Amino acid sequence: MTNYPIQVRLSETKKQKPLSDQLEFGRVFTDHMFVADYFEGEGWVDHRIVPYEPLQIDPAATIFHYGQTVFEGLKAYIGKDGKVLLFRPEENMLRMNKSSERLCMPQIDEENALEALKQLITVDKEWIPTTEGTSLYIRPFMVATEPYLGVSPAKKYKFIIILSPVGSYYKEGIHPVKILVENEYVRAVAGGTGTAKTAGNYAAGLRAQEIADRKGYSQVLWLDGVERKYIEEVGSMNVFFKINGEVVTPMLNGSILEGITRKSILELIRYWDIPVSERRISIEEVYEAHRSGTLEEAFGTGTAAVVSPIGELNWRDEKIIVNNGETGELSKKLYDVLTGIQTGELEDPF
Ligand code: PMP
Repeated sequence: MTNYPIQVRLSETKKQKPLSDQLEFGRVFTDHMFVADYFEGEGWVDHRIVPYEPLQIDPAATIFHYGQTVFEGLKAYIGKDGKVLLFRPEENMLRMNKSSERLCMPQIDEENALEALKQLITVDKEWIPTTEGTSLYIRPFMVATEPYLGVSPAKKYKFIIILSPVGSYYKEGIHPVKILVENEYVRAVAGGTGTAKTAGNYAAGLRAQEIADRKGYSQVLWLDGVERKYIEEVGSMNVFFKINGEVVTPMLNGSILEGITRKSILELIRYWDIPVSERRISIEEVYEAHRSGTLEEAFGTGTAAVVSPIGELNWRDEKIIVNNGETGELSKKLYDVLTGIQTGELEDPF
């Protein structure tokens, strides 16, 4: 980006902050936001921190019609010494640029975006909640704002960062969740946009999620889009299984989102010398492991929940109960260590 430094216009009024025990996920936003504009030929201009407020966007803007948009999600915590801690934020900026490339959107300067993010958090630092399990969720995103109904990449964009104090993402917390294996709908296919963090992937997943919800399941397990055979992700998390002492997670195949938590979990597991492989894994294999008694654990990983143990998988009405429906030892250890590193309570060996 050009035209740094960032202009700051502070809000004249301050909003009431929610009580930390009443925090939900993503419903309340802080007093300020960061905005920058992009014009083709000019690049990024007018970097500013301004009061959080509704945007004025032309109804013909590309975002509303063809969904040209990307986003990211990460968290900030306050450490014991009062310092603000961010977990691998440069990874999010890098992934945002990869997503933008897929959606024919402009690249951001990753270092400048990180600087903008840090300045915004400093302005709204009082909003970072401090009780256990809470954090400040950070949502950087980019939308195409050019008013034009032709199907082509827009020439105007906005890059925005908003902040939201959050409680635990899952009501169940670190307790195991029930998952419905989705046999009809798919989230993404290789060659599509599954590896990009873009709105359409999430809109496409809502229908299956709604059905799972109605049946009393908290998320769906996504299978591959060609054979409905190989496991891809769980809800909006990456997924891991522990079978006969080995940890297995689906390899990155062009339709799975490359989770930053996934990467960190793989690093921890390798650091602990636990056997691990990234490969194709079918739902039949998980079912067979369950039948033969070698399925030890299953869990999802993502920024929001960090580690979410799976207690039950329903596959075509066959129930796969994992670890007697209880949180497995490895899931718990990974959750404790990763959240310990994120909140500054444990030293980060990396
Ligand atoms: N898969 C999908 C589809 C997601 O939306 C997310 C959340 N970003 C993840 C996996 C996990 O990614 P991360 O660990 O970077 O949060």
